[in-house]
Amino acid sequence: MNVLEIRGLSVDYLSAGGTVHAVDDVSLDLRRGEILGLAGESGSGKSTLAHAIGRLLRPPAMITAGSVVYHRKDEQVDVLKLAPKALRAFRWKELAVVFQSAMNSLNPVMAVGAQIDDVLRIHEPDMSRKARGERVVELLRRVGISADRRKSYPHELSGGMRQRAAIAIALALNPEVIVMDEPTTALDVVVQRDILHEIRTLKDEYGFAVIFITHDLSLLMEISDRIAIMYAGRVVETGTAKELHRSPRHPYTLGLLRSFPKLRGPREDLLGIPGTPPDLRDLPPGCAFHPRCQSAFDDCGRVSPRLLPGPHGEVACLLNENTGVEVQA
Ligand code: SF4
Repeated sequence: MNVLEIRGLSVDYLSAGGTVHAVDDVSLDLRRGEILGLAGESGSGKSTLAHAIGRLLRPPAMITAGSVVYHRKDEQVDVLKLAPKALRAFRWKELAVVFQSAMNSLNPVMAVGAQIDDVLRIHEPDMSRKARGERVVELLRRVGISADRRKSYPHELSGGMRQRAAIAIALALNPEVIVMDEPTTALDVVVQRDILHEIRTLKDEYGFAVIFITHDLSLLMEISDRIAIMYAGRVVETGTAKELHRSPRHPYTLGLLRSFPKLRGPREDLLGIPGTPPDLRDLPPGCAFHPRCQSAFDDCGRVSPRLLPGPHGEVACLLNENTGVEVQA
């Protein structure tokens, strides 16, 4: 059952140098209780998409088309049409966001326990002070921070602890959806793994769904149930983490998989993807990936591939449209 349905969502950035089409006609479903990974290089549109879902975009960004429908237990909510008061309640109670740098999202002059207490006080006015105190301790404990650190300020905590505190704040009101935008990128691999493990455990316990964003596809394989790959503002492949790992069908997915060291298994050479992502103000004709694609053939410079369903998930590549041409390994 879907908790979020995104349909035909497009976001532009208006600038003097031209219109940047950051997200272009994206449709995705988030199922209740799943972790959906969003991967792609910088500028692929994944963070803009996540911000658009939470209505967190600021000018010059502008949603130009599409809808985001949130399924409450007994009703459907059109997120893009929520009035300001309803939107504020939606953002904490039903959808919370954890950003890459907790140092930027936490209040530097407030102890972390007080910051969680603040969220509870504002959104749960009937909750007693004692109950709030107990909830703060419980939330910190659940993310691996001992009760005596609730009086610590963000600068007194390590990077990993700060990210854990940001996750505790996101969990405060038991939201159905948590968007995590590169939440472990600034951390070392060991801390990263601990936090990934923690997120999965918390998700199983609380039942929320996660949109987890990172440029590191091998890390996403570790944590996600399903993955959507973005390139130049579009979704180019979707599938379960297992399927994408076993048989990626889009050449860009294959390139991403070969660009990052695996967290498990034998050491392999990293190959990377030749070239750089395109200018989103002036995309190449046909398939936007064709100037970098080792499997490109004549039609790729003329025909724009559609995102079509396959035996496992979807893929937007002309190789998938019965051309008879094989992907170059
Ligand atoms: Fe490569 Fe062509 Fe497929 Fe694009 S459509 S990914 S250029 S093979």
